[in-house]
Amino acid sequence: MCECVSIPREIRERCEELQLSDEQLREIMKRLLDNIERGLARDTHAASIVKCFVTYVQDLPNGTERGKFMALDLGGTNFRVLLIELGENMHFDMKSKIFAIPQHIMVGPGKQLFDHIADCLGAFMKEHHIEHECLPLGFTFSFPCVQKGLTKGLLVRWTKGFDCEGVIGQDVVELLEQAISHRNAVKIEIAGVLNDATGTLLSCAHKQSNCRVGLIVGTGSNACYVEKVENAQLFDGDRSKPYVLINTEWGAFGDDGALDFVRTEFDRDIDNNSINPGKQLHEKMISGMYMGELVRLVLVKMTNDKLLFNGQGSDLLFKRGNFFTKYVSEIESDKKGTYASCRQVLEELGLGHATDQDCANVRYVCQVVSTRAAHLASAAVATLINKIQEESVTVGIDGSVYRYHPHFHNLMMDKIATLVTPGLKFDIMLSEDGSGRGAALVAAVAARGHAKTA
Ligand code: BGC
Ligand code: MG
Repeated sequence: MCECVSIPREIRERCEELQLSDEQLREIMKRLLDNIERGLARDTHAASIVKCFVTYVQDLPNGTERGKFMALDLGGTNFRVLLIELGENMHFDMKSKIFAIPQHIMVGPGKQLFDHIADCLGAFMKEHHIEHECLPLGFTFSFPCVQKGLTKGLLVRWTKGFDCEGVIGQDVVELLEQAISHRNAVKIEIAGVLNDATGTLLSCAHKQSNCRVGLIVGTGSNACYVEKVENAQLFDGDRSKPYVLINTEWGAFGDDGALDFVRTEFDRDIDNNSINPGKQLHEKMISGMYMGELVRLVLVKMTNDKLLFNGQGSDLLFKRGNFFTKYVSEIESDKKGTYASCRQVLEELGLGHATDQDCANVRYVCQVVSTRAAHLASAAVATLINKIQEESVTVGIDGSVYRYHPHFHNLMMDKIATLVTPGLKFDIMLSEDGSGRGAALVAAVAARGHAKTA
């Protein structure tokens, strides 16, 4: 079936700078690889923008992990408390509850945040009648941390709308332990702190033994991968083991201007109006926290230039934050030539006067913005696959953008195939709740390690 309405030349032209050629993507890959190598090396780490933090996770799960674990997942779309049982045949039994983190806590004192987390944990354990057990807990804390061991992580910077005072430079495990012991009677043994990208890698490796990369395209964006210990120059853990997981924190890529050659006025607008200007510039071009707003900025400009809605916008369209990232997925889910979801979104935004041509144009803008995100993520993944250089690698992925966008997976498969070194095979696998399961697996693998050395 043909696309019934074609996209006018002016609209296409406005979107050109948001489309990245393979040549531009290859240049980005070159710069990212250089950043990763500088992050790993002792002499250049301090000045490197992409930090490549060592995780102290060296063993991938092998399916024999058993036991009952608590997990906390902070830093994604939702804050969750989980109770996970790992049983025979890789069986996961999982109970979880989402708790809200009110806006004033996201940007309030750190103590308030950790007290809130401890309260939610206590309430959950009481609800499940496990308040008298002392269970090992995996803490998925999805922000950049310098790890000083499996149970010690110092926060480097807040991202994704969080900005709690007094936490940067502190050990988040210690802050959590203090809050738990002050706030409630439950006992917990924190077995490990990890990033969601690490959790995603672990939860996929549990099923797919050639998994070497864990990727998040959700509220934020990041990746973790399996590196040779010899290349992780700053790793002071067990250097007799061959591998260690590296948390790249590639969301910060570009903070030194490395991406300026592809950033647009819309990217600069997003950044200037964010809670962390100048920071996480790669993430701001990719992740769900910003995607809807990017679309909105393009639509506003086109409306003001009378290319959309007959030049008549709406108060809702002109207000920051009103175009949700989930709208992008909804609009792109309409069948070719039909605009039911698009119309619904536009009506919600007070744009009921949109014509079919407007709908087609709005969808085109959504496609351009989400495709750019998928291509940037693909270039970054291809950089890792080429660096790892194994014959066949599985990439585990999680995150709301990847999960809910109708074409993200296919866009990534195609673009990674174009960008990887010929001969290398890869696959992309959805991680079933990497942030939750990964935390239990870290706790379990830690227990396995203790058993071995005991
Ligand atoms: C954080 C990472 C995290 C990613 C995805 C980024 O903002 O810095 O630690 O993995 O978001 O949640
Ligand atoms: Mg998550």
